[in-house]
Parts: sequence; structure tokens; C-alpha cells
Amino acid sequence: MAHVNVLGSINLDLALTVDRIPQLGETILATGGFQGPGGKGFNQAMAAHRCGADTQFHARVGRDAAAHTLRLAMDRAALDARFLEEDQQAATGTAHIFVTADSDNAIVVNQGANANLSQAGAIAAATGANVLLMQLEIPLPTVRAALAATDPAKTLSLLNAAPAVTGAQELFDQCDIVIVNETEAAFFGGVDRILAKVRRGVILTLGSAGATWYPVKGLDADSGEEVFCPAFKVNAVDTTGAGDAFCGALAAELSRGATMPEALEVASAAGAITTMSQGAQSSALSLETIGELKASRAEVNQPQVVV
Ligand code: ADP
Repeated sequence: MAHVNVLGSINLDLALTVDRIPQLGETILATGGFQGPGGKGFNQAMAAHRCGADTQFHARVGRDAAAHTLRLAMDRAALDARFLEEDQQAATGTAHIFVTADSDNAIVVNQGANANLSQAGAIAAATGANVLLMQLEIPLPTVRAALAATDPAKTLSLLNAAPAVTGAQELFDQCDIVIVNETEAAFFGGVDRILAKVRRGVILTLGSAGATWYPVKGLDADSGEEVFCPAFKVNAVDTTGAGDAFCGALAAELSRGATMPEALEVASAAGAITTMSQGAQSSALSLETIGELKASRAEVNQPQVVV
């Protein structure tokens, strides 16, 4: 059974397109605006769900209009909203984004209710899934509680160590797989440092260059080889959320029992599809569109064992 639990953040992204980032004390007019669902947790849960996994999303919202908007987005996509905690005081997390025509941006995030995601919620997320997927936009003690409550014999634990925060490296020895981009890998002292701690391996994502699986040596045959998966060549218009789609799709595939090369291929396709439209989540993401993209590429570009 393909059952993924995602524990993480949920935000309403409020983006404004501007001619330039305003100066201190200045008021300017936006050239356009866009509101959409966001937060690494929500993006990853939506991706796992769109990739066909039975997905529980454990997160925390406030009691406000932003929460209503986010619940509607979940309803529309038929992602179960039963596992959302409701904060009586804090506002729903929001990300306030200014984007210029040259793609420069300035972002302020109000963490709001995400900062209060409970350890009880974390423990609930840790049980009953084949795969538990987390990131670091929620309190570290909450992530730690979930990992402590996870039975490694039943549940594969994936940590997308993003954003890179001090103290997270102390959690790596309780994770099966850690997923990082190049900036995050550098923050934690490089892939080898992370690999020395995790149980099964590290995935390094490289944007439009692809992604590499580094296994812990000496485990089973399937996870034993280093694998490089080139990125799909697509017309990228907004790379926000590519890493999140990658993580969600990877979790969905691994929960189905896919091998690492298979899972990397699907995750890369999900990342690529997300870059083809604006916003952190793409409604075009589905097993069908992933299948079409996979079918379109030559065998030479498929995941390769690194020798
Ligand atoms: P993050 O968003 O966390 O920085 P990356 O930018 O490394 O993560 O992207 C994650 C994955 O998404 C990549 O490994 C790749 O498979 C895919 N991806 C990202 N950007 C592109 C792109 N421009 N074209 C095709 N695939 C992409």
C-alpha cells in the first residue's frame, strides 16, 4: 500500500509583480498579483497526493481567511484536510513575495501557526505510513518527536533538510534518507558529512543539472550503487517548488516500493513539470503527465549508475 504521511508547513503565498523592489519608506503600485498555496510541507503533500499516494498532511493553520483559502485548495485537489491542527491565536503562515520582471525577488515569511505545530501531531504523523516526509519549516523539536516515534521497520523516514538550519544535523542519524540541494549540502558540511550519519543515503538535487543518490555503502543491492538522474529538458518559467515536487513524488514512489533509479526518474519529472508554470504547486502534475514526460526522453538520459 502506498501510504505517505507529510509533516510540515503550510502557507498562503501572496506574490506581487513589481517594476522594482520598493525603497525603505516608499509605496509603489504592483503591476500584478498572484495568490497561491505554498509552504514546503503543503507543496510536498500535494505532490505526493498528485502522484497517486494515499497522503495524510499533518500541519497547522490559524482561524482566518487564509486558512479558508488553503482548505479550499485542498478540497479542490481532494487532499484530506482532516489532519490540519487549528491554532486559536496565531495566524495562518503567509509568504509575502515581491518579484521583478528580471526575476529578482524579496520575500518576508510570517511563520504564524507553523511555529506551533504540536509534538502530538508529529507523533500521529509518525504512525501508519510506509513513508514519512518532513522538512525544516516547522520547529525542530516537532521533527525530532516525529522521528523518535517512527518505527524504522515499518516506515521509511525522509527529511528534506530545507531550509538549512543549525541543529538539524543532530537529527540525521534518525533519518533513512536526507534530501538536500547544493546550498543546503554545503551548509551541513558536504554530502559525505551527511552520509556519515543517515541510515540509507543522501539525495543531492542539482536544479536543471539533475539529482544524485548517494547510498550508505554495504546495504542491500538496490540501494548500493550511486545513481545520477539527469534533469528533464523543459521550458522552465518558474523554478519555485521544483524541489518540493521532487520530494513529494519521490516519497510517493518509494511508498509503492519503487527502486531508487525509478523513484529518481519520477521525482525529476515531477520537479520539471512544476517549473513549467507559475507558483509552487502545479495542477498539471499527475502520474499521466509524468508518464508522458518520461516517454519523451531518450534512453541515454535515463538514470545511470555512477562508476
Ligand atoms: P530546490 O528547489 O530545493 O533548490 P532543485 O532546484 O535542485 O531543488 O530542483 C529539484 C529537482 O527538480 C532537480 O533535481 C531537477 O530534477 C528538477 N528541476 C529543477 N529545476 C529544473 C529545471 N529548470 N528543468 C528541469 N528540471 C528541473
